[in-house]
Amino acid sequence: MTPAAQEIAPGEPRTVVIKVGGSLVSDKRSDDHIDHDALRDYAALVAALATARPGRVVFVAGGGALGHGAVRTTDAPGPHALLPLTQATFRVKWAWTQALCAAGVRAMPLQVAALAREDAGGVRTQTAVPAQLLRSGILPVLSGDCIVTADGSLRIMGSDEVPGVMVAEDFAPVRVVTLTDVPGILTGTGHDSPVLRHVDPDEADPAGALFWPTASWDTSDAMRGKVQALAGHARRGAECVITQGDRRARSLLHLFSPMERWPDDVPHTLISRTPAA
Ligand code: ATP
Repeated sequence: MTPAAQEIAPGEPRTVVIKVGGSLVSDKRSDDHIDHDALRDYAALVAALATARPGRVVFVAGGGALGHGAVRTTDAPGPHALLPLTQATFRVKWAWTQALCAAGVRAMPLQVAALAREDAGGVRTQTAVPAQLLRSGILPVLSGDCIVTADGSLRIMGSDEVPGVMVAEDFAPVRVVTLTDVPGILTGTGHDSPVLRHVDPDEADPAGALFWPTASWDTSDAMRGKVQALAGHARRGAECVITQGDRRARSLLHLFSPMERWPDDVPHTLISRTPAA
């Protein structure tokens, strides 16, 4: 069945863009580390989801150690300085692609630098290729990258910004789910503090006071950067969710359920113009 032919119930997304954060599959303090066992477990979960909802899942790999490492170690001056990022993030995409194919799905890495560019009007994207992959039942594998800007220089498009490429009418309604190492935006300083349920993406500085100081090795401003990127997708109509990844989870199928039907034991922060139920 093609994605377009599949019935979409009220409150369900047509397309789920799932990002597995680099913190779940690498030690980001290192410049070059991938935890292949964790990656294999998450790939199996994503592959099962893509098999259950063919043509409706897009995967985004967090940059993790390799992505942050490439940005940290860039010392060449000038407009082309960020070029090594595309190689580093391709290595991450390739590790995921191999694990996803081994888990039984046809996965294909796409370079975001070839799907997006920036000019004075903002980021411009072309989605014909990911759309064709989805129609063919192939799982697109994206990652952060460097994209070209109007003056020919390169700028980072981080992995939390990348799901925006898929926020387009052809794929709507779109839900962006970012799995990370915390259960959502925590309202205190401890990992057991309550999770903020909802963020209004139209607020000037959504959840601003709640962010913890960012570690020196982090190049994407951790939760603050994530929320800023997701609020941007939400303003364009996506429903965005931050929740904790669990490599031992039985299934990710609830990611396609209306938000009010998510299991009670899956805390999360929803960033959406539609408030949490
Ligand atoms: P990557 O961007 O490399 O893919 P990721 O998406 O897994 O990684 P981060 O971007 O590092 O994760 O965001 C998660 C981190 O945000 C947490 O590990 C935590 O240290 C930090 N953080 C900052 N403020 C908060 C907060 N209020 N609640 C929860 N986490 C917070």
